[in-house]
Amino acid sequence: MSATYLMPTYNRQPISFTRGAGSWLYTKDDTPYLDALTGIAVCGLGHCHPQVTDAIQQQAGTLIHTSNLFGIDWQERAGEILCTAAQMDSVFFANSGAEANEAALKLARLYAYKQGFKRPKVIVMEQSFHGRTLLSLSATANPKAREGFYTLDEDFIRVPFGDIAAVKQAAQEHDDICAIFVEPIQGEGGLNTAANGFTYLEKLQAECDAHNWLFMLDEVQTGNGRTGRYFAYQHSNARPDVLTTAKGLGNGFPVGACMVRGRANGLFGAGSHGSTYGGTPLASRVVHSVYDVLANSNIMENAVTEGLYIRESIVDTFGQHGVSSRGAGMMIGIALPEDMDCNQLVDRARDEQKLIINVTGGHVVRLLPPLNMSRDESTQVIERLINLLKPSF
Ligand SMILES: *Cc1c(COP(=O)(O)O)cnc(C)c1O
Repeated sequence: MSATYLMPTYNRQPISFTRGAGSWLYTKDDTPYLDALTGIAVCGLGHCHPQVTDAIQQQAGTLIHTSNLFGIDWQERAGEILCTAAQMDSVFFANSGAEANEAALKLARLYAYKQGFKRPKVIVMEQSFHGRTLLSLSATANPKAREGFYTLDEDFIRVPFGDIAAVKQAAQEHDDICAIFVEPIQGEGGLNTAANGFTYLEKLQAECDAHNWLFMLDEVQTGNGRTGRYFAYQHSNARPDVLTTAKGLGNGFPVGACMVRGRANGLFGAGSHGSTYGGTPLASRVVHSVYDVLANSNIMENAVTEGLYIRESIVDTFGQHGVSSRGAGMMIGIALPEDMDCNQLVDRARDEQKLIINVTGGHVVRLLPPLNMSRDESTQVIERLINLLKPSF
């Protein structure tokens, strides 16, 4: 494959797909690959879900874009169902995760500004990933992604993920903090869950309430049913002030959302934020159709049962060799022994097993299968993974 005209921002695998259906991707010669990655947690309903495809086709032939200068009926409708599902008050529609997070971080700054802060700081986590725009990149931990971009480091305080004591310490050392921004489960940074699970979120919220900070969740990856609840925070009793999502929101159609509640509601006014493409009739109708499929099915329960089935089967087989699993629903990390050479795993899975996976954090196999994967397909994921990993033990 020659990519001469494309900037080399990605190390691309030597394969491309021309068609997708459900849990399967097909190459030009129609070889099927079992997709346990779904475009990095995007196509949660599987590729080309018929109801979503139908919504896109109908709306593409009716009205694609007008402008946020006008009323947009589908945006109102998508906003209502999304805010109701997320238990939030209002939403701003963007086109990606980074843009949704940019809106959240701008909100935190505006929240501080309205209280007279000179230069506020946001608490973020080690191993976090929040996107590639300058502000969301500055919130991101990965030094390789940040290098050379003069990130706005003085605007963030970084603490270890899962560590409440570090947050309390930061609160003592700084009087200019305005928010905490955190992923319920860290996706790009190694599929990390907090040691105390989702109660971590409740403890973070308590700190935010005690100090009048905004409690902001990045559910770009964990949202839209991925972990078995519509949003991952709903596994806990925590309630965010600001909530972002994207990836699964459009099942492959680019769309993001930043939602607010309570003290974060009403911060943005006319002219203070915007996006030409944000919440077009087409994007909004897609959001609506993805939500309809999730809400009127047992897909989120399926994500829980199939996710557990995959995790337990792998740990049953390789647990005695130090293999463990983590995550929630169909957001699965299979942690291999730290001394294991994992460099070839993605290529071997693809070429030998026709299985699409990802490896993160050096030795964690990351699986993000469709939420509606069938039992037979989950069994095939397990069998192919066992075949892949067996020679290593
Ligand atoms: C993917 C991701 C982002 C960035 O989303 P883009 O759509 O690529 O801009 C932000 N936060 C989290 C947690 C993500 O997983």
